[in-house]
Amino acid sequence: TAEHFDVIVIGGGAAGLFCAITAGERGRRVLVIEHANRVGKKILMSGGGRCNFTHLEATPAQYLSANPHFCKSALARFTPWHFLERVNRHDIAWHEKTPGQLFCNHSSKDIVAMLLADAAAAGVTIRTGCSVVQVEHADPIRVATGQGLVTANRLVVATGGLSIPKMGASDFGYRLAAQWGLPLQPRRAGLVPFTLHPPVLAQWSPLAGTSAEVEAVIQAGDQNIGPAFRNHMLVTHRGLSGPALLQVSSFWQDGAELVINWMPGAAILEWLEQARAQTPRRKLKTLIADRLPLRLAERLEQVLADAAVPMDGTIADLSRQQMGQVEQLLGSMRFQPSGTEGYRTAEVTLGGVDTTALSSKTLEARSVPGVHFIGEVVDVTGWLGGYNFQWAWASGWAAGQAV
Ligand code: FAD
Repeated sequence: TAEHFDVIVIGGGAAGLFCAITAGERGRRVLVIEHANRVGKKILMSGGGRCNFTHLEATPAQYLSANPHFCKSALARFTPWHFLERVNRHDIAWHEKTPGQLFCNHSSKDIVAMLLADAAAAGVTIRTGCSVVQVEHADPIRVATGQGLVTANRLVVATGGLSIPKMGASDFGYRLAAQWGLPLQPRRAGLVPFTLHPPVLAQWSPLAGTSAEVEAVIQAGDQNIGPAFRNHMLVTHRGLSGPALLQVSSFWQDGAELVINWMPGAAILEWLEQARAQTPRRKLKTLIADRLPLRLAERLEQVLADAAVPMDGTIADLSRQQMGQVEQLLGSMRFQPSGTEGYRTAEVTLGGVDTTALSSKTLEARSVPGVHFIGEVVDVTGWLGGYNFQWAWASGWAAGQAV
């Protein structure tokens, strides 16, 4: 005979655990099924091991979705302050890295330990190393697992996205949605480094390890796709990475261009005019090296030289047209990425269960009563900065209140 629960949650990640805690604290009898050998693996590796667990200024504007309004309800009802209140109750030391962006002082392990302690206190049963063989939408819902049949009145699918397959990522949630005829938005890797075509890579990869503050944006033609992000970029052995580029990667599509401003916030033409007036005998080379790491300045000089801007003469020697060229190349250098590193290194998966199929209040599938989808498996994806965990907590809470 099958063991019966009020709620079964498939996936013991951020969203699943938080949903289980919320439901357990409401007196529900909850089972979490996790196929990996432990829960919360992605939490452990997040934020460079210090889990960027929320962003205090999270608003719907920092989320990508085919329906940008969908995330509003859950985010409004469970805010970063609610999560922080729990973190503080557990005496977990944290700090604010950039304004609003909160990290653990010690380790991501603190967050997993908090979730496990609260789950235990709420009477939640967690089964790790447990795979799901089949799910049947009957009354009650039947879940056949490697450890036997279990049944429940409610099922919560919290299996996450496709990124980092070796941490337990699977397409199980998408397949379940498809099994019930729910629409899916196309999936692709987000918050992921760019790769470059071999000839371009050959020019940039010798700089691997060099970083600089830039402003990056994606453009198709002259149209911006998504916002511009000012933050660091990093040259790698495969292409271009760093927080500014991870941010814009979520907006990139095949054929679109990556546009980098190497002097964010600077009025480049004025800067050149001023140098021309005050230090006309300086070389453009040394002027650029004032503002950027040397190796990068040398690479940019090469790009300028390739564009026929003479690099050996003085600033006074530059023609008006050449000054315009310098402004163009330093202010909006265009790259045509060959692609991204894909799910192997992506922090998130864009797309997923189409929000038109779900209630924004309860995350319940309209056509499959009693079944909820939460977290990253849903077509809601945050920017880099703690927004993705905030969506996991908020959507988990919303479903946990409803089940
Ligand atoms: P997950 O946390 O991925 O959990 C899904 C769980 O379901 C996993 O435990 C998985 O093993 C399990 N599962 C999958 N299939 C099955 C199945 N068939 N049966 C049973 N169990 C299954 N976001 C931030 O906000 N801040 C950060 O600092 C941050 N850093 C990150 C760093 C890295 C390297 C990565 C990869 C991501 C990072 N993210 C960060 C994103 C964040 O980790 C995810 O958005 C978040 O974990 C999503 O929560 P989730 O519960 O939906 O999915």
